[in-house]
Amino acid sequence: MAASKTQGAVARMQEDRDGSCSTVGGVGYGDSKDCILEPLSLPESPGGTTTLEGSPSVPCIFCEEHFPVAEQDKLLKHMIIEHKIVIADVKLVADFQRYILYWRKRFTEQPITDFCSVIRINSTAPFEEQENYFLLCDVLPEDRILREELQKQRLREILEQQQQERNDTNFHGVCMFCNEEFLGNRSVILNHMAREHAFNIGLPDNIVNCNEFLCTLQKKLDNLQCLYCEKTFRDKNTLKDHMRKKQHRKINPKNREYDRFYVINYLVRLSFHNLKFDCSTANKIFLRTN
Ligand SMILES: [Zn+2]
Ligand SMILES: [Zn+2]
Ligand SMILES: [Zn+2]
Repeated sequence: MAASKTQGAVARMQEDRDGSCSTVGGVGYGDSKDCILEPLSLPESPGGTTTLEGSPSVPCIFCEEHFPVAEQDKLLKHMIIEHKIVIADVKLVADFQRYILYWRKRFTEQPITDFCSVIRINSTAPFEEQENYFLLCDVLPEDRILREELQKQRLREILEQQQQERNDTNFHGVCMFCNEEFLGNRSVILNHMAREHAFNIGLPDNIVNCNEFLCTLQKKLDNLQCLYCEKTFRDKNTLKDHMRKKQHRKINPKNREYDRFYVINYLVRLSFHNLKFDCSTANKIFLRTN
């Protein structure tokens, strides 16, 4: 029942985006919509580029250099220095690996100038000293659609994960404040912490990858760090007293590390590129009950 609602929400987003295609960004790309949408197919298995050690890696768009997914900045630096290509707003790309694989293929099919704007550095200097850089950004409709597709795909995966956690009755966790053990749905431990310890990280339904979230918090406490102000204390009791007295029994809202545990952030990312994707879809997802 609930699963079909999720699919409904995703399907709706599809409609919303398609419907708003020509209005996004106020750029007149309406005509190119059909021909652009057609050839865009996402790379199916980014796992194909896994290194021997099994850690996932991403190739350079232009050469055979590979970099671990976790070191994407190194790859970006390599591409700027060696190939003079700059990717705009790369932090907003929902799936960096797939994004790179997509463009790697496309750049073998067409010249770089078909896709990138050229930025001339040092334009007032003599010609030999001028340098051209290529900018890949979402002003290009194909890039924008790719970014949107990757975001939707990521959202779909997150909603599936959320749904699975909602229904999971085999969750096992230990309260990080009183060590009581909980078995059952994750909402049991979250509600316990909210009720018994005034520690509220949000409605269980709005959280995804709950296990990892709790582990992240537990690790902070194990390192004797306050969850709110993130100061470190000399022992457990001092930390406990501090969190109680200062009312620091909450997470630091400025810590971006937690963003990925809230489903809303995946929706916000999507709406960044698509202003028509708005509250009505978000409400569908958040106002339903278990
Ligand atoms: Zn390269
Ligand atoms: Zn407890
Ligand atoms: Zn504190």
